[in-house]
Amino acid sequence: MLKLKNVQSGYGNKLAIKDVSLEINEGEIITLIGANGAGKSTTLMTICSVVACKAGEIIFEDKEIHKMSPDAIVKLGICQVPEGRHIFPQLTVKENLDMGAFLRNDKEEIKKDMDYVYSLFPILAERRHQDGGNLSGGEQQMLAMSRALMARPKLLLLDEPSMGLAPLVIKQIFEIIKQINKESNTTIFLVEQNANQALHIADRGYVMENGRITLSGPAQELLANTDIQKAYLGI
Ligand code: ATP
Repeated sequence: MLKLKNVQSGYGNKLAIKDVSLEINEGEIITLIGANGAGKSTTLMTICSVVACKAGEIIFEDKEIHKMSPDAIVKLGICQVPEGRHIFPQLTVKENLDMGAFLRNDKEEIKKDMDYVYSLFPILAERRHQDGGNLSGGEQQMLAMSRALMARPKLLLLDEPSMGLAPLVIKQIFEIIKQINKESNTTIFLVEQNANQALHIADRGYVMENGRITLSGPAQELLANTDIQKAYLGI
């Protein structure tokens, strides 16, 4: 579904992504793990064309997307939930969700999708008339994920959904990521520092160090790898 071939990107003259090649198949949950500053967020932003791809290729469903605009990429079915959520704090929960469906005009299907996200996160249904800025961190993460789902993405990019959340909320968010993947057949690319939880829900994983992919494989193999255990799992 998505292929990155020898991708480079960065900020000004500095390359944050030096050589990234990876593949995501339809229906998979793939995780990208790595330390602070390894280049994980930059990888997601490069896929979305928010950060320009300086070399290499990004192919989505047989289309070269690395020269497309961010909105054209959203229209193809790739949607990102950025690190730090970035919901609209002065809009209500319902208005935030409406914004997620901004590029659609199939009203009945939009209504179905709104009912679906409210069924995933009943707390958002209860708070639909409250301002996004008044929600807790966990609820804002739920809203950011729901807003992305309102675009009905084929590929959902999640940047550190667990960041700053309490353990119980993290558990709930990871369970729902799995549920979204299964129920709505949404392919998921999950960037996480919480490698343990991410590898437990993923099919496969990539490890990133210093702008490069250094290891990849089935999630179960990565969980059993002693180098990964020492570096990322605290074992
Ligand atoms: P984190 O988990 O801390 O978000 P990360 O693996 O997602 O880390 P990136 O945020 O992609 O890493 O950062 C990769 C490199 O690019 C780092 O050296 C970082 O300092 C640098 N960087 C990130 N954003 C910018 C920016 N807007 N301008 C300049 N340099 C940046």
